[in-house]
Amino acid sequence: MVSVALAATRALVANPGSAGPNKMQPADYHMHTPLCHHATGNPVDYARVAIERGLDEIGFADHNPMPEQFDDWRMSLTDLPRYFDLVAEARGKFPQLTIRLGLECDFIAGHESWIEKLAGMAEWDFLIGSVHYLPGGFEVDHPRHMSRHMSGEREELWASYWKTYERAIRSGLFDFVAHPDLPKKFGFRPEGDLRRFYEPAVRALAETGMAFEINTAGLRKDCREMYPAREFLQMAHEAGVPLTINSDAHAPGEVGAAFPEAVALARAVGYRELVRFCKRERSVVAL
Ligand code: ZN
Ligand code: FE
Ligand code: FE
Ligand code: ZN
Repeated sequence: MVSVALAATRALVANPGSAGPNKMQPADYHMHTPLCHHATGNPVDYARVAIERGLDEIGFADHNPMPEQFDDWRMSLTDLPRYFDLVAEARGKFPQLTIRLGLECDFIAGHESWIEKLAGMAEWDFLIGSVHYLPGGFEVDHPRHMSRHMSGEREELWASYWKTYERAIRSGLFDFVAHPDLPKKFGFRPEGDLRRFYEPAVRALAETGMAFEINTAGLRKDCREMYPAREFLQMAHEAGVPLTINSDAHAPGEVGAAFPEAVALARAVGYRELVRFCKRERSVVAL
């Protein structure tokens, strides 16, 4: 009997995609759809993989529409009903899986009222706040701007990013903020102790009570590291900031990607709880 149990435990470890009956996987709240023009697979396909990998809850968070054509990597306003239909289709097909409805919203200073308007357009379970654009229009994570990350401008870009990120948190528009140290995506970081950048953001999270995510997509980028860095996570835990763990899947195969590593990291810095969202109400589950 003992050896059977051991073998079963080993099988679970060998196949980190499957969770044991008492070991709940994180809900994956950051998944995209083809409506943003750079993701593949429909919500039903993501849902199918989520079930295969032992997840009990997922949420879609595609890139938010803007009032008019803004760039080429977000859903258009006219596609919003289609987005609701695709999520409803997945809910209908997989009733055993809890499927939440969210959006990944770009925080752009001066456009806060648009997010407020979006917030009233559906019964969202959560809104994620992201900073992809800096004042002046610089796109933090776009490959065409990579050379600027390699230049002497880097310190300035990071300062601008974190200032904007703090503003996104203090706007109070979101349920949690995404990929905290996104500017490291291409593998270039400023010199020295980066906690000088993290500190104001963590303080803003603690003061406003907003949550953030571990986003495992960083592991799939040149930086080869989850967002955020361990030091950020440590500071956030010490400050009592609530946490979610998400994949930022842009393809069904990425659902729940590297969750065992993310859980291990969160636990290593002391996290014992994750938060979940339903109709923009937050609840706590054991990690
Ligand atoms: Zn995307
Ligand atoms: Fe993003
Ligand atoms: Fe995303
Ligand atoms: Zn994202």
